[in-house]
Amino acid sequence: MAAHARDYQWVNGNSRIDFWVSGETTSDPVMGPAYFNSRFDMDDVSAGQNARLTICLRVCLAEVGPWTKTVTDRDGRPFLQWPQVLDYWTNSWKPLAHWPDKVFDLFRTWVEQQATSFWGNKDSSWGNSGFWLFCTRPDWQGLDWPRGGNRPTHRLYVNCDFECIRAAGDGDAHVLIHCAYLNPKVPPPPAPACAPVGSPPSNGPKICAFVNPGRASRTGTGLLTFETIAPRDVPCLPNIKLTRPITGYCVPHEIGHAIGLPHIGVLERRPDCLMRVEKGDNGSCLECMTGGTEADANNIMGYGHKTTLINALPWAVRAAEHTHTNPSDWMIGLGQRAPLDLNHLRQFTGNPQAPAARMREYRESNK
Ligand SMILES: [Zn+2]
Repeated sequence: MAAHARDYQWVNGNSRIDFWVSGETTSDPVMGPAYFNSRFDMDDVSAGQNARLTICLRVCLAEVGPWTKTVTDRDGRPFLQWPQVLDYWTNSWKPLAHWPDKVFDLFRTWVEQQATSFWGNKDSSWGNSGFWLFCTRPDWQGLDWPRGGNRPTHRLYVNCDFECIRAAGDGDAHVLIHCAYLNPKVPPPPAPACAPVGSPPSNGPKICAFVNPGRASRTGTGLLTFETIAPRDVPCLPNIKLTRPITGYCVPHEIGHAIGLPHIGVLERRPDCLMRVEKGDNGSCLECMTGGTEADANNIMGYGHKTTLINALPWAVRAAEHTHTNPSDWMIGLGQRAPLDLNHLRQFTGNPQAPAARMREYRESNK
């Protein structure tokens, strides 16, 4: 996790942007910090091309087999002891098998692809339309275009991107995720119409998957099984309808934890969830998984696959670190935008909260 070789800055007027940041970033105080790298790309920017902020997460997916030493969770409790794994759904040990020939390599590639395509906003199947960031601070010139000019014509947005990077081993990774192959001779649980919450879904992961983010002091730990690459079926949620017949996009959900996103009820500060957390729940209770609303339940950090502005927090907080600004200086949006045409703003009148209007104030006061 050494600092990147291209550890330099872009400077524009009184503003600077660091190319590379490596360290802990806290998106949510309950979740705590997550350790990851990020890269702020300005090489190709122009009046038609935005900047790009890429979170680079170093992941070691470790094949579980007889060589695997006993692994303990954050509470010091063993959850992996070949040839068995602890299932947190049922608090019971399940038998493991050797990965079939070549299957682990395929699995590892699928996991990396799912993580990168979802959080890199290239996920046509699940329709994550992408996040953009925009710095609304009038006195900050880091993303004004052209650089070095007194009268910039554009201010650039920042497109959010993600790369899952294959780490060589434990010491080289932000998160070490143990990948277990369950003994197929274990009969699957009977298939109900929908699976009761808190029990293994009938057609998906047979045991609980989890990932804890890495810290400066230790590598994060997680567990995935072969079944986690396939979306699982619908859990029974009281009074809440999930928008797709299948849900629980497991790999992006777990990678979301690795970059510091807690469950959606925690993230959205839902009172019922926070009350449970205050009483000692770790943020995985039903109230925190669904937030008590349909939109929350369908979020990638709930039981679903959708994204809202709040899922972009790791990028927004990290953008502030790259640019030496405050997270509150940044607006988040969904989708893609062309760089903001500052001349066009002269005709703009409208919502004073919009970044365009803030920029108009800036233009007027700097004439
Ligand atoms: Zn989770």
